[in-house]
Amino acid sequence: MWPNFTLPLVIHQFDTDNAGAMAQAFNNQYFRRASFLISAGKPNQFPQSDGAEVAFAGRSNAGKSSAINTLCGNKGLAKTSKTPGRTRLINFFTLDEQRRLVDLPGYGYAKVPEKMKQEWEQLMEAYLQQQHKLHGLVIIMDIRHPLKAFDWQMLEWCQYYGLPAHVLLTKADKLKRGAQQSSLLAVRKMLKENGSNATVQVFSALKQTGLEELVSKLNAWLELD
Ligand code: GDP
Repeated sequence: MWPNFTLPLVIHQFDTDNAGAMAQAFNNQYFRRASFLISAGKPNQFPQSDGAEVAFAGRSNAGKSSAINTLCGNKGLAKTSKTPGRTRLINFFTLDEQRRLVDLPGYGYAKVPEKMKQEWEQLMEAYLQQQHKLHGLVIIMDIRHPLKAFDWQMLEWCQYYGLPAHVLLTKADKLKRGAQQSSLLAVRKMLKENGSNATVQVFSALKQTGLEELVSKLNAWLELD
């Protein structure tokens, strides 16, 4: 079962002015080797290994596929779709024999039928309970709409099981620099107030903002440092 916490849901609204963020210097060389391994629709289809995994979760359309593709320098790796909620499978990508990236199905799309939501929840739960493999969860949120109800649920889950979480506030290019920073600080504050240890950063797949920071976090989780 999902842990049933009752944290206050305080959603802030942010400016939506556009701005060009400077691309950062980065080195995602290691992640460029990522290759598709398998899609799993049922727990018995999960690939076996004792290696380390880092998973990516987020509301449909938040920018999860784009973030994975940017990380791996491969536009076609994770499917980017304009139809939210369509991908219900867990996609596994191999980095090396001991390490994998895992793309969890997008959540929170209102038009998904109830039965599909339940199937999704069961699949997600089955995956997330494999504690021994999972070294961290990256939770992708649109910087203009952070910390929605299901984002909190994922954060609470991480907190409950002591799993490191890293929040990626993506589509940062949609906001001016000042508004990006305000959002970052507001999200950090809300997490702290709600007892979450999650780290937070700004990201843009479009401008590659924050790629170096993400790579550094994943390097640490996957013990690549
Ligand atoms: P997913 O459903 O979470 O995998 O989201 P996608 O990666 O498919 O992105 C959803 C939409 O947001 C697509 O139209 C993307 O082109 C767009 N998008 C994703 N990341 C960014 C970003 O950093 N900046 C901007 N401007 N658009 C983005």
